[in-house]
Order: sequence, then structure tokens, then C-alpha cells
Amino acid sequence: MDWPQSICYINGEYLPLAEAKISVLDRGFIFGDGIYEVVPVYYRKPFRFEQHLARFERSTREIGLANPFDRAGWLDVVERLVAGSTAEHQFIYWQVTRGVARRDFAFPADTTPTVFAMTSPFTRPGAAQRDGGLKAVTRADERWLRCDIKSVSLLGAVLARQFAVEQGADEVVQFRDGCLTEGSSSNLWVVRGGTVIGAPRDRLILEGIRYGFVAELCERTSLPFEVRRLGQAEVEGCDELMLTSATREILPIVSLDGRAVGSGRPGPAYAKLRAAYDQAIEALR
Ligand code: PLP
Repeated sequence: MDWPQSICYINGEYLPLAEAKISVLDRGFIFGDGIYEVVPVYYRKPFRFEQHLARFERSTREIGLANPFDRAGWLDVVERLVAGSTAEHQFIYWQVTRGVARRDFAFPADTTPTVFAMTSPFTRPGAAQRDGGLKAVTRADERWLRCDIKSVSLLGAVLARQFAVEQGADEVVQFRDGCLTEGSSSNLWVVRGGTVIGAPRDRLILEGIRYGFVAELCERTSLPFEVRRLGQAEVEGCDELMLTSATREILPIVSLDGRAVGSGRPGPAYAKLRAAYDQAIEALR
């Protein structure tokens, strides 16, 4: 494979990404037993670092994993990786696993967590996606019941995204028991009658850092904002559909299962939120 030329952090060392190695007995490799984060960096400044760290800490607590660093420790790793890259915009990926141990499902008695972090250049979504919009397909949500934990066990998300790709789509719109949950790696937003509506923050979705950000942007742009369960018919008959994530920011979904969403073009709520999103990013310059 063609390795990115960036450095990474692995268990106390900074190395070229191609040189970083972990044990085959790492519980992240064997069981997917770990937690991760993805933090976007704009103009070389981490965006919403505190919120990402708080989510990471919550996820580690939920699975009884010791967080190896305090706030200053994580910030130091992030800043050193950003400094080691020339890219203006980046995204930092970090993960902590329960470490290396003899293969046994139960937690090992005293194992040091494996800590890994890397940076990648971040190409922000371009005009084709922003102005043309994305295609999505509906799918039954077949993931586990703790989607609120940002776990590295991502097989459910992998299969969901592959399902979309095989149909020439960009994302899935998932439903559990007939109600909207989220995309494979994004939160979803439905617009009906001018109100932006999101699925409740419960165990069935990951609360994206952009979830709270969308709520703030709605307030800033005077868009009514609501959180409630949405049935499939309400989603299919909506005026606008959008997704948010660290790497896709906020993007309109203009087709669902091959049918136009609303007018089939990015709508007015998206236009307002996109402008406010860009303004917040430009304020970091
Ligand atoms: N939901 C899932 C399942 C995700 O994997 C992600 C991001 O990867 C999100 C939502 C959006 O979260 P964020 O806005 O923090 O990127």
C-alpha cells in the first residue's frame, strides 16, 4: 500500500505511519475492544476539541476502559501531530484499545492500553457534494444496541456503508423498528415544514459532535429545531434531508432509494445551515 507520509503517535513514540506496529494479540485487533475519536482540524486548529474529548471520556467509561491521558495529554498529542503535517486542514484519528493480552473474552487483569493517533490531510467537501447533494438508500439498522459508544467494533457500519456503495449511493438512512436512527457514519436531519428534526439522543445513535453544533446553528439562523422519533413515511415524504459528520460536515441528501427528496435539489434549510457552518469555520482563520 501507498503509505501517507505523516507521522503518528503509538504508545509514547512519534513515528512515520508505515513504521508503527502493534501486537497481533492486541484486543483492538482480536475483539474490536477499544474506543476512537475523529477530530477535524481547520486552519491548523482542532475544532470542538473539548466536546470530542468529553465524548471519548464518556465512551471509555461506558466500557470500563482506562483513559490513559488527561486533557493536557491528549491536547499535546493532537498539537504535535498537527505540527508534524503541512496540511492546512486535517483530521486527527485516535484510538485506545484494552491492550495486549492472552486471548480471553473477559477483561485482562492488568494490561496497558494501546494508544494510537494519526493525522490525515482533510479535503473539505467540494462543490459537487455541497451543491449537487448526495444519494442515499434506506436500510434496516442491524447494528448492536449501544450505538452511543464510539467503539472501534465497526462491522455493522462497514456492512451498512458497503450496502450503499453497491447501489451507487453515498450513505444509508437506517431505521430500527420503523424509526429513523442514523447513517453508517453520520447523523441525519429531516426538514418538514421548515423545522429541522433529529432522532433522539439515546443508545440507538452516536451523538455526533455536529449534533449539538446543528442545534446551535439552527438557533443562530432562526430555524425551528426539534428532536423526536421519525417514522419511515415521514422521512420519505420530507422536504429536505441532510447528514452531518466530522469529515462530511453538513451535506444535503437529494435522492433516497432513487426518488427525489423534496424538490430533488439542496433546500433552503440546508443553504442556511451550510452558510452558518462555513462562517464558524472561517472564524478560525
Ligand atoms: N453517527 C455515527 C455512527 C458515526 O460514526 C459518526 C461519525 O463518525 C457520526 C454519527 C457523526 O459524529 P461526528 O459529528 O462527531 O463526526
